Amino acid sequence: MSPFNGKLVIVSNREPYVRRKGKLEKTAGGLVSALDPIMQKNGGIWIAAGSGERSPVGDSTKTTVPPDAPAYVQKSIWLKEAYENNYYHGYSNRFLWPLCHMTLDRVFLRRAYWSAYKKVNSLFAEAVLEETGDEPAVVWLQDYHLSLCARDLKEKNRKLVVLQFWHIPWPPHDIFRICPQRKEILEGLLANDLIGFHLDSFCQNFMTCVDRELGAGVDFKEGFVHYKGHTTRVKAFPISIDFEWFARSASSPKARRTWERFRKTLKLPQDGYVGVGVDRLEYTKGLIKRLEAIDLFFTKYPRYRRRFTFIQIAVPTRKVEPYLSYREKVEALVAKINAHYGEADWEPIKYIDYKLSHDDLAAIYDGVDLAVVSSIYDGMNLVAKEYIASQVDEKGVLLLSEFAGAAEAIPGAMLINPYDTECFADAIKQALQLPASEKQKMIRASIAYLREHDIYRWVGDILDEVERLK
Ligand code: UDP
Repeated sequence: MSPFNGKLVIVSNREPYVRRKGKLEKTAGGLVSALDPIMQKNGGIWIAAGSGERSPVGDSTKTTVPPDAPAYVQKSIWLKEAYENNYYHGYSNRFLWPLCHMTLDRVFLRRAYWSAYKKVNSLFAEAVLEETGDEPAVVWLQDYHLSLCARDLKEKNRKLVVLQFWHIPWPPHDIFRICPQRKEILEGLLANDLIGFHLDSFCQNFMTCVDRELGAGVDFKEGFVHYKGHTTRVKAFPISIDFEWFARSASSPKARRTWERFRKTLKLPQDGYVGVGVDRLEYTKGLIKRLEAIDLFFTKYPRYRRRFTFIQIAVPTRKVEPYLSYREKVEALVAKINAHYGEADWEPIKYIDYKLSHDDLAAIYDGVDLAVVSSIYDGMNLVAKEYIASQVDEKGVLLLSEFAGAAEAIPGAMLINPYDTECFADAIKQALQLPASEKQKMIRASIAYLREHDIYRWVGDILDEVERLK
């Protein structure tokens, strides 16, 4: 990555540091891990919606972070509860999220959602402009919560270079036209100088939408959109993980001890196979389809009862509908499978309903024999990449939904169609029966790719593109 020069303003819904019990803690997640060191080196300001506790002293909107070696400014926007509910839980998560993931029966819209979304986007833009004034800066907007920000920014300060990364899929036009506010959203996004998506197919979908809805001039091949005198670069940058961190953590002696502790606590049979699924309890992750496939696997292949145990880590995230009823369905299915096949001293599914640390996950990823990612649609899926990076013994197999962006970005995975329950169940058996040499070959192909394409390269590629545009 060439050295980035220029004032950098990052804008995201979630803060990089949150104050809990009086202490500022770094939030987990790939984006923060990747951008925090760049901000520490480069300086700048990170603007996000306030969460956690407010600072008891001084200005509660600005803090210098990290707390032990202040290097950049974190600016919090404290939203009123009604705004927060309608913009975040409402328009962002009950409307845009299911729309972009093409789960249309979950799409839910209220007028109040849209007005709050517009208002909050303008608050974010104001917060940026307060910092930049009329001066030049590079503003990097994150995700689908902020699709209207770029337009406000560009209207008020032409010297800004504005880019946005859209972390979820962009659906085909036939789906996106369900959105009553589609023109405003597309025009808002086209105010950016650069828009990044995970996959080229999402770029193509987006360009088709601006072509059909706005009649914008589109160069589909080169990835440029010309609209009302402004040009937007549209390009794919598949997000990744801190490969070296996972590889290092999984190979540490502590990881071995952690895995042994898990084996004991979960009462896993000493000589059996173990699989894992690691997800937010989120309907796009295809948890029901995965459990149905496991159910069928035990019916079709009874000799694997007691010989295969599946750990499902399902972290509840959004405590609102439709997540609450989805959770009930998932947990009822787990209970049904365990009641049907379980024995006095063995449970086919070990269900963990709380968040584990990345250190624990790296130990589990390396310990198990296979991992399952069965998203019905997913922008990327970082768990798939974390699992690969943690394969110290090169003995794991990744069963990966062909509808997760990661399927395009990782060679060497065993692709599955989560809707095809019989093939899915058979794939679990095939994975368990693969010869060690075959598994090693597949894992090595995945590792070689990921080592080269980690999160630092992702950030570097994006910032290099910005330098070119400048
Ligand atoms: N994760 C975690 N602890 C858990 C479960 C998940 O830290 O117990 C992390 C996981 O390691 C990954 C992220 O949550 O980094 C999930 O990212 P992914 O892209 O797979 O899905 P998303 O939740 O962003 O849709």
